[in-house]
Amino acid sequence: MKVLIIGRGGREHSLVRKFAESPQVTQLYAAPGNAGMKQQAECLAISETDHEGLVAFAKENEIDLTFVGPENPLLEGLVDQFQAAELTVFGPSKAAALIEGSKHFAKQIMDKYSIPTADYQAFTAADKAEAYIRKKGAPIVIKADGLAAGKGVVVAETVDQAVDAVEDMLLDKQFGDASTEIVVEEFLQGEEFSLMAFVHGENVYPMVTAKDHKRAFEGDQGPNTGGMGAFAPAQQLPEASYDYAVEAILKKTASALVTEGRTFTGILYAGLIQTDAGPKVIEFNARFGDPETQVVLPLLENDLDQVLLDVLTDKDPQLKWSNQSCAGVVVASQGYPGSYQKEVPLPNWAEDGEVFAVHAGTKEMNGRYVSDGGRVLLFGAKAEQLSTALQKVNDALGVFDSNNDFFYRRDIGRSSIVSSNQ
Ligand code: ATP
Repeated sequence: MKVLIIGRGGREHSLVRKFAESPQVTQLYAAPGNAGMKQQAECLAISETDHEGLVAFAKENEIDLTFVGPENPLLEGLVDQFQAAELTVFGPSKAAALIEGSKHFAKQIMDKYSIPTADYQAFTAADKAEAYIRKKGAPIVIKADGLAAGKGVVVAETVDQAVDAVEDMLLDKQFGDASTEIVVEEFLQGEEFSLMAFVHGENVYPMVTAKDHKRAFEGDQGPNTGGMGAFAPAQQLPEASYDYAVEAILKKTASALVTEGRTFTGILYAGLIQTDAGPKVIEFNARFGDPETQVVLPLLENDLDQVLLDVLTDKDPQLKWSNQSCAGVVVASQGYPGSYQKEVPLPNWAEDGEVFAVHAGTKEMNGRYVSDGGRVLLFGAKAEQLSTALQKVNDALGVFDSNNDFFYRRDIGRSSIVSSNQ
């Protein structure tokens, strides 16, 4: 079977690694891919934005299954184009991907179908938004409606901060078209976790939970990033909360999208907060999370290609999950998420079978790996105990300790280990 993966980040390298484990997969292509993927896949000089080029390649090379990693091509209708060309593709249509593409749309769906989430109101006029904020008080959360590369959310601790955020987004068009509308949302208190599922219409097959670490620095300090590390499953989540999140959030949302004529096929990602009243949604994504995927897929014991084909043909994929924990820590370029240097040589590291390296922003130059992005690599490991997995990862990360060009967080998962005694 020939599989094409679209994307170039750590999430897509993880997908390549997972597909490569399947005996049924004979040829893997990545478009455009990254340096780390070259060990297992042929990387193509076709960008995620070149939809015609991707469809033409898949047709000419008789690709059996295409997987779209990132959100932008989904929201631009790449899956619809593959389907129109009668190619097998796993991912949501443009209409279904709106659950990620518009925060207001997602809130309307949750409202209409009583899916638990924060109270909110949407605005296009700054004065009305400001009046609402003054009535509600702080803390309060301001969100740009559209995609803003993870930067479109401000958790305001004061009314003044909230008003500034409104003005940046609505008056100064900080995110262009993505912030012509905003959602102003109640601040929710609690532990965050992510829950993803393979979805096809009403059929929902949930994965294990995961926990991401979004802040740049240790102790959850500093600016938000794309994610500095993750582990799975999320510890200390009561089983009843997991079941509730599957039934009252994922299944209800999948079913709502069918009713709305926007049937969802693909990976539905729920970003959740465990509040005193149970899990509530803070966001939906229409694709695998990054870096959650890097720690969730290693725990999946099935062949990924078979899971996807089963889901697409309405068969229960009989998912099997390892009882182990998986942890991953991101190595980032010094300066990220602000400005940073590229093409900095990476130190050599050894992959001993216990620790795996997922490439995100790397490329090859003169026979060695150099940096090519803010998030550069993720080192991951599995073990019976989360603490053991993290120990393995941290030992391997030692090669970066005397290197000031890169940084990583040493406290990924620590609070969870301390509180659960793992
Ligand atoms: P991503 O890059 O994951 O797509 P995003 O830009 O879509 O992120 P959200 O995940 O919606 O943004 O929010 C970013 C962060 O802001 C969340 O991880 C959470 O910490 C915080 N946040 C969002 N909504 C709320 C809320 N209602 N209450 C408390 N914190 C919130």
